Order: sequence, then C-alpha cells, then structure tokens
Amino acid sequence: MTTVGEKETPGTAGEHADGESAETAPEDAFGALSDSVRLKILQSLIDHRLEADGEPAGFADLRRSVGVRDSGRFRYHLNQLRDTFVERADGGGYRLTHAGQEVVAAIRAGRYTDEVSAASTTLDSECSLCGNAVAVAYESSHCVVTCEQNHPMFQWPVPPNLAGEADSETVLEVAQLAALHAVELLLAGVCPECYDPLEPTLDRRGDDSLRFRAQCGVCGCRVDSSVTLRLLADPAVAAVCRRHGVGPRDAYLWEPPFVGDDEAVSVADTDPLVVTASLQIEAETLDVSLDAAGRVTSVEER
Ligand SMILES: [Zn+2]
Ligand SMILES: [Zn+2]
Repeated sequence: MTTVGEKETPGTAGEHADGESAETAPEDAFGALSDSVRLKILQSLIDHRLEADGEPAGFADLRRSVGVRDSGRFRYHLNQLRDTFVERADGGGYRLTHAGQEVVAAIRAGRYTDEVSAASTTLDSECSLCGNAVAVAYESSHCVVTCEQNHPMFQWPVPPNLAGEADSETVLEVAQLAALHAVELLLAGVCPECYDPLEPTLDRRGDDSLRFRAQCGVCGCRVDSSVTLRLLADPAVAAVCRRHGVGPRDAYLWEPPFVGDDEAVSVADTDPLVVTASLQIEAETLDVSLDAAGRVTSVEER
C-alpha cells in the first residue's frame, strides 16, 4: 500500500487492537530513566533502527552496542524499560515504543540540558502599537519578537537544537509555522501539546481586544493569539490571499497580508457570541463571521 504521506514512529505496528492498556505510575516510568545504561539502551535502539532500516535489535547486538558484558545485568536494565519505553517486536528483538522515541528525541534536541541564547536581530518590520523597529531573539527556549519598547509581538517555544544551528530568521519561520499548526490543531478540537480534547474560545478580558485562546486542563498548555492569527489558519481566507498572489505565510504573523488588524474585528452579537471581521485583500473585501469557539460560520466576498 502506498500512502501520500507517512510518519512512522516505533510502536505503531504491534499495538493492541482492542485498545487495552496497562497503566504505569509516572514516578516508576521516570525512575526507570535515571540510569546511564538505560539511557544508552534507548539511544542504541534509535541508532540500530537507523542502521537496520527499521528492523528490531537482537538482544546480543543491543548488549554489545551498549557495552555491557554481563548479560544478566544487561537484561535487568532492559527489563526496567520494558513496556513503557521498549517493547518486544512480534518476530523477536527489541524496539522503542513511541514514548521511548519521544524521550530520545528530547534528549538529542537538548530539551533537558542545553542552554542556548541568541543575540537579538532587527527585522524589517514595525511595532503595530508604537511604530518602533521590531527584533527577534531566542531566550529560555522561546523565539521572542518585541519592539524597542518591549511590546510583545510574538512568542513561541522552539527547542534548543534548532536555535543553536539555524539563523534567527529560520528559527522565526519555524516558530511561526508551529504557531499556525497549533491554531489548526485547536480548531480540530485538540490541545497542540498533549492532544487531549480542548475547545478554544474567542473572548475579551476587560478592555482588551478579542483574543483566540485555549488553556489545557490536562497539560497546562496555553495559547493566546490574535483573531488575525486564527484567521490566517483559515482555508477560505488563505484561498483569497492566494488568488491575489500572496500566501498567508509570506509575511510575519503580526503583519498579515490583508488589511484588517484586530481593530477590524467586532462583536455582532453576544448571546450566543458572533464575531465579525472585515478583511481587505487588495480590492476584495472578505466578511468573516466566527462563533464563540472561533469557528468560521460564514465567509462572504464583496
Ligand atoms: Zn512597540
Ligand atoms: Zn494539553
């Protein structure tokens, strides 16, 4: 079978079809990782997977690559990882579970260990509030865009491996893509961090402008974005932008390719909430209505 796009992660093949699950206490799962031999087993399984074209690793091969002579001792450590981070393949041998791969990816991306910071770089952009120049910097694992007066324009987490290797424009481009993708996941009804069901809302706090927000009660992830950013992730808005030769991702997220910032967003009804936005794209005007969950309920072109 050929698929259009595929992302294979370990542990997708032999899962229980009936959805049966066994629970492991978090302290036991994390406790199993507090040993250098076990962390080396996880990393060796990734290396083996890359070298052997996805084939599981045999016990002896794995023991040799980890460098433990005593097979009883090696088996003990391997067993501490079994089921949570490592599993036996149906045809024999060992491979990582999805959780095991996530641990290795986070270790190799430096998420737990690396401190990277990058000096700020001035961008060809102005602050929408004060008109001052805008700069991008990398601080505390976040790509941060502010103006000289420190007005926050954009902030998104990016792992240190990318920030340590790529230039600041590339880091910003990736951070913006990640933000748009997070909005798309929220509109699909899931948390962009832990994938638990999550309903975003359009709301206003005090005198603030309307915002597209979500807060996950499971993992604590918070997304707080302009209505403009939410609209940039909309297929109908993207289609009109493209018809005029501008992609929704051609410009910085805080400088959308349509005229109509959050000033052009207004409340048409409060019970239930109906929000309308008038977007000017070249000579075309797009009237968009959204409901309280930020879903687009109508699009009209004028
Ligand atoms: Zn400013
Ligand atoms: Zn979550």
